[in-house]
Order: sequence, then C-alpha cells, then structure tokens
Amino acid sequence: MPLSSTPPSVPAELSQNARTVLEKRYLVKDRSGKPTERPEDMFWRVATVVAEADRRYGASDAQTQALAEEFYALMTQRRFEPNSPTLMNAGRPLGQLSACFVLPVEDALSNGQNGIYDTLRSMALIHQSGGGTGFSFSRLRGKGAMVRSTTGVASGPVSFMQLYDSSTDAVKQGGTRRGANMGILRVDHPDVLDFIACKEDLTKVTNFNISVGITEKFMQALKAGGSYDLIEPSTGAVAGQLDAKLVWDKMVLGAWRTGEPGVFFIDEANRYNPVPHLGAYEATNPCGEQPLLPYDVCNLGSVNVGYYVRDGQLDWEAFGRDIRTSTHFLDNIIDVNKYPLPEIDALSKRIRRIGLGVMGFADALIKLGIPYDTPEGVEMGRRVMEFLDVEGKKESERLAKERGPFPEWARSIWGPDETCARDADGKRIRPMQMLRNCNVTTVAPTGTISIIAGCSSGLEPLFAVAFMRNQAGVMMPDVNEDFVAIAKREGWYSDELMERIAKTGTVQHPEVPERWQKVFVTANLIAPEWHVRMQAAFQQHCDSAISKTTNFAHTATVDDVRAIYELAYQLNCKGVTVYRDGSRDGQVLSTGATE
Ligand code: UDP
Repeated sequence: MPLSSTPPSVPAELSQNARTVLEKRYLVKDRSGKPTERPEDMFWRVATVVAEADRRYGASDAQTQALAEEFYALMTQRRFEPNSPTLMNAGRPLGQLSACFVLPVEDALSNGQNGIYDTLRSMALIHQSGGGTGFSFSRLRGKGAMVRSTTGVASGPVSFMQLYDSSTDAVKQGGTRRGANMGILRVDHPDVLDFIACKEDLTKVTNFNISVGITEKFMQALKAGGSYDLIEPSTGAVAGQLDAKLVWDKMVLGAWRTGEPGVFFIDEANRYNPVPHLGAYEATNPCGEQPLLPYDVCNLGSVNVGYYVRDGQLDWEAFGRDIRTSTHFLDNIIDVNKYPLPEIDALSKRIRRIGLGVMGFADALIKLGIPYDTPEGVEMGRRVMEFLDVEGKKESERLAKERGPFPEWARSIWGPDETCARDADGKRIRPMQMLRNCNVTTVAPTGTISIIAGCSSGLEPLFAVAFMRNQAGVMMPDVNEDFVAIAKREGWYSDELMERIAKTGTVQHPEVPERWQKVFVTANLIAPEWHVRMQAAFQQHCDSAISKTTNFAHTATVDDVRAIYELAYQLNCKGVTVYRDGSRDGQVLSTGATE
C-alpha cells in the first residue's frame, strides 16, 4: 500500500529566511506561482519517495512508514538535508535528485554519443533537471590543429567552453536555478595559457568555474625550476614546452585577480579513485567537491553537526545515529532517482557513489568554544570528518550485507582484487571492506540547504556575525543567533553594537570580550593558512574532495596566494580555490565592510 500523502502533524522548525527560500524556489506551485504545498508537505514528499526504496529489499508497509517518519524528522528538525534537486524534484515528474554530474567531451563535433554537440545536448538536459555539470576539455585538439575533413584549423577547447557557457544561459535550470559548470583543462594541454586567461574579463564565461588539472609531473618541473611537455591530445605528440614557473605564476596571478583559475590536483585525486578499472577522473562537479568519472553522478547530503552540540558537549552517539540514517537515505536515492541519460543511470547503479558531508561545522566549534583558526579547531575538524567517515561506512557495510555490495566492488579499491586496490608501490590504498557504495563521504558547499537548516555552510567559518545575504535576488538579514544569545546572557548586547558589527564586518569591538572575539572569528580575519589546514584535516578522512574557499583580505599579495596554492599541494589537498575580498562584483554574501 503506498504511504499516505499527509505528513506527520509535527511542524518543520524553520526560520523566516528558510521559509522565504523554500517558497521562492522549492515548493510546488500552481500556474499563478502560488505554492500549493507547505514546507511540511515538501519534506514528506521527499521522505516518502526515498523510504519507498526500502520495499525493494523486503520492507513491510509498517517498516516503510516508520522509515519515512524518521527521514521526515531528520529533515524537519534540520539535522540533515539532501542536496537541493532532491528537495525540489522528489515525487514530481522530473524526479531527478542529484546535484553533480561529469560528462565526457570527445574530440569530434558529433559522434552520436559524446562529441562536442552531443554532450552539449546532455548538458542542457541535466541543467533543466537542476543538476550541475563538470567537463574536461582536455581531449579536444589544440587551437590551430588541423581538422582533416575540412583541412581547416580547430578553434580549440576555450571556444567550445564558451559555446557551452552560452547554452547554459539559454537553459535556466527548470526555472529553479541557473546551470553551474566546471571546466577543466590539463596543464599539459597546448592551449593551457589561453585557458588560464579566459576569465580575466569577468563578464565572460560566467556560468563556469574553471580549474587547471595539475599533474605530478608539472609539480616536479616547478620544484626543479624547469619546463614540461605539452601534449597534443589528438595525436599524443609533444607539441612544445612551457616553463612551469611561468604557467604557475599566471595561474596564481589570475587567482589573485579574480579567484580563477582554481587548481585540481588530478593525480592526487586519481590515487583515490575507487574504481580505476572503469576509467580515470578528469573533471569535478562545479564546486569541486566531487571528482567524477565520465557519466558519473553523485547525490549529496549533509548532516548539521552544530545540532549535536548541547551544553558545550558534542553528542557523538546521536550524531553517529543520524550519520547512519542519512547514509541509508542517500543509498536509497540511487534506486528512486530518474537519471537524465541511460549511461548515467547504468554507471550510478554499478558503483553507487554517494556524498555525505557536514554543514554547521563553524556553529559546532562556536558552541564548543573552540576558535576555528587554532590547532584545536583543526583537530576537531579532523575528528568530525573521521567520525562521519567511519559511521557512514558502517552503514554502507550494513547495507552491503543486506542488499549486496555495489556491483563493481570486487575490483574496486575496497575489494579483494590485487591490482585495483593497490598503489604503484604495491601498498593497499584502503583497507578491504565490503561496501554498498564506492564512495561515501564528501563536503559540499551547502549554499542553499544550510539556509534551510539555519546553520553555517559546509566546513566554512562564519562569513560574518551579522550581514545581508543575496538569496535568489532577495536581500535577507542574517544575524548569528548564538552570538546574540551570549551577548544578552552576559549583558553586553545592544542593537547599536549589532549594527556596528554588520557595518564593519567584524566583532572586534571593545564591548565584545576577547574570548568571544576569538571564537566568533570570521572568514576574512582567518589567516589563509588556517583555511587550508582545515581543508587538509577534513580531506584526510574524506573519500571524495572538499568544497572550500580560502579567503584573503583585499590587501593580500600575489605571493600570499602562491604560498597557499603550494601549501595545499604539500598537505595533499585534491584542489584549492581562493577568493580575495572585493575582487569580484556581486558576491553572494556581503558585509558592510566590502561595499
Ligand atoms: N549546484 C548547481 N547549481 C547551483 C548550486 C549548486 O548545479 O546553483 C550543484 C553543484 O554541482 C554543486 C552542488 O550542486 O557542487 C552542491 O552545491 P550546494 O551544496 O551549494 O547545493 P545545495 O544543495 O545547498 O543547493
């Protein structure tokens, strides 16, 4: 019997900001644009669709109902939220529930499957369903290379990336969000300098984040102060050499100017590819937390870790329980998802990749009284991620015993196979473990779902204690509730102080006790090195990658940015993204200080 469409009578605990976001973009609407469901109906719609998957594995009506109620409680109490497409599309005609995709782009205009214009079409379908897409343009021949059929010359990867960009503009994502893309080019591609420069003009290629795929060979050349080979992808021939430092300097300068290009340490990411026998990582999703194979997909979800801190203590038991239920939730999504392409559907069922992460990490530190930019803060980050990873895998293992491991398990890095599971030097990369999912953990930006949950985003520090947020065109005030509560409790609260904090973008004012100035430290006041140290600490225990922005003050120098790019490499990060305050117009978050 299908589950009842009436949600439990317990209302969702949502802030006004959360309700505004849901009404604007998530709730089902009638033709006049008026919502025809309440947030409770939305959460129940999602909970029932996802719980229904359990029936395939023998769950009874009563068990499915109980599971749906558990999922409903998780989401309405803001302990966990799935990525936006799940909230928007579950139980609706589109039914596409994932945020992240990577599509291959072959060196042909069209080959009926994955040539440039074939993939352009696939991209449009994914954008329409609310997903973001990543591409490697590294297989396209360089600008000026010969086109045999016409004896003309190729226009190169950057020109095709611009084509994808324009198409993205044309397809608004199902009317809910604009398509987001990641464009990657390997550092040994002949057009790499054009690629690095392609976003110098900030009005160009606006629907893409770009990252250079940095190889180990390149980093060795950089260290040695030498040059490296460029390879023409269509022939495999050496097409020239470039001085590694010159290329690195251009990247660093670009990042200092505009935040782009970012870096994707492609060899480091591939060391941890769980299914190397199926192909190599060549690109990531738009925000960088998911290196994915061609036609790969990931559905994300995030546990709000701040929720579990009560009276200065993290309740690890409750956190662990919810991590396991959330893992179960994400695994179910794979069975009920309506994928936009058959290739994606097939791969997702063979490897069952999921991406469980955290949000509200800065809130958790604040409630624990630990400043973000300290060894204790970083150690807490490592512990939280290690715990998430261990508990998530426990659940994935339990599901594997009940439902079977992911079909490619035996040959994956988790399985008994001798070749895939090992590093070049013969060591096992990961301990053998029977899992339902080839990857379990990640850390997403949680840009919107953190607003729905009313918590700080991902693993990021607080952006500000009081600020205005531009959410889908609506400016919304955001004031940190923990800060207000402490100020009132300790007797130094005033409206005037809050206004001053919003205007100046800092809590460094005489009436704020020094201890709280440290605990409520905000992104721009944190030395960039601590951002990267935190990212690296999370990365240690994360299957996939981490979405993290290293913030710089406006006055930071090019050398400061270079040092951070190099530190990220030394600390085995899979990528790095920086942002210098005020270097772009129309930033999503703004404090008075940058206006
Ligand atoms: N994403 C997208 N368009 C957007 C925002 C996000 O396609 O406007 C995709 C992208 O792949 C990103 C992923 O969703 O890496 C997760 O982003 P986030 O956690 O911010 O999404 P949320 O679930 O909070 O909306």
